[in-house]
Amino acid sequence: MNSFQHNLLKWYQKTSRKLPWKQYFDVYSIWLSEVLLQQTRVQQATPYFLKFKQKYPEIEDLAAAPLDEVMKLWQGLGYYSRARNMHETARFIVENLNSQFPDNYKDLLKLKGVGEYTAAAIASFAFNEQCAVVDGNVYRVLSRYFGVDIAINSTLGKKHFNVLAKTNLYTKDSATYNQAIMDFGATVCSPKKASCSNCPLNKKCWAYQNKKVDTLPVKTNKIIKKDRYFLYCKIKNKNKVYLHKRMEKDIWLHLYQFPLIEVNKTTFVDESVYSDQVNLLLKNATYGIKNVSTIYKQTLTHQKINARFIEVKLTKALKKHKNWMAVNEKEIHNFAFPKIIDCFLNDKLLFLNLK
Ligand code: SF4
Repeated sequence: MNSFQHNLLKWYQKTSRKLPWKQYFDVYSIWLSEVLLQQTRVQQATPYFLKFKQKYPEIEDLAAAPLDEVMKLWQGLGYYSRARNMHETARFIVENLNSQFPDNYKDLLKLKGVGEYTAAAIASFAFNEQCAVVDGNVYRVLSRYFGVDIAINSTLGKKHFNVLAKTNLYTKDSATYNQAIMDFGATVCSPKKASCSNCPLNKKCWAYQNKKVDTLPVKTNKIIKKDRYFLYCKIKNKNKVYLHKRMEKDIWLHLYQFPLIEVNKTTFVDESVYSDQVNLLLKNATYGIKNVSTIYKQTLTHQKINARFIEVKLTKALKKHKNWMAVNEKEIHNFAFPKIIDCFLNDKLLFLNLK
């Protein structure tokens, strides 16, 4: 055992975090927790893990659930393709693999929604296979401790860190080692304000010894976020409102929304042209615009969404629309919405309660 492994494991023995999924050793619970944790902080994922375990204690329960129900339970966690893939994978395993997960890294990697990190984590935690996990925490710890300034999101960086992670894996107990390095990265060697002065690894840490902690890891910033402008029409007829299920190859697949008019920035900032936009959407209907909301914003990985909600009251029900469904407004909270719509609905609820 090298001194990096030794100090890390000693630290873990004393301070390991008590997280709800650590009490489960079955592959289903481990897979569930790892999918929830992808690109998500522990605090945010924890209530979702508890909700999913309660509602779907076994993989058969998840496989038997309707996708809409799973999406609703996932609402607010973001990266919704994870929920769709998770549901599809559960069905695949139940229907084709007799409810048995593959028991090794190579076969786990073939499952939908399971990438290299997740496959390594499941193989290591559930089957004690000698796989090194490499997530954001691991990149950070290794780059700082060993003083590596190759960009972690470059091809060369990925290769280099994979080799470094494998070389330092404590193969006699890879599950504990993997858990230790991830917990250490999340709590001690954190992105901002790392606890270097109390760190048990600081004597041999290159970044600490060379005052470079804040400059590592290196990441090339390639993502340019595109702005999009949405005018959502909350169209009401008596106690019904109209919803549309997103089925396009775009963000938020399978989530619900109010009928949407996507516009350019010029139109978005000019409120005087909104009625023309609504006219195009509602064609021959008779209606009145009751309210226009303030701007709501949501930032996604590659896009920034700017949205306003136009509240429209019909004087007569619309003729059947092939893509819209009329739902009772009181039941609207049963549908899974993108966060930006959920925020608008919660603000409305708050306003109504205050009135
Ligand atoms: S000394 Fe600081 S930078 Fe180095 S491993 Fe410890 S917490 Fe991370």
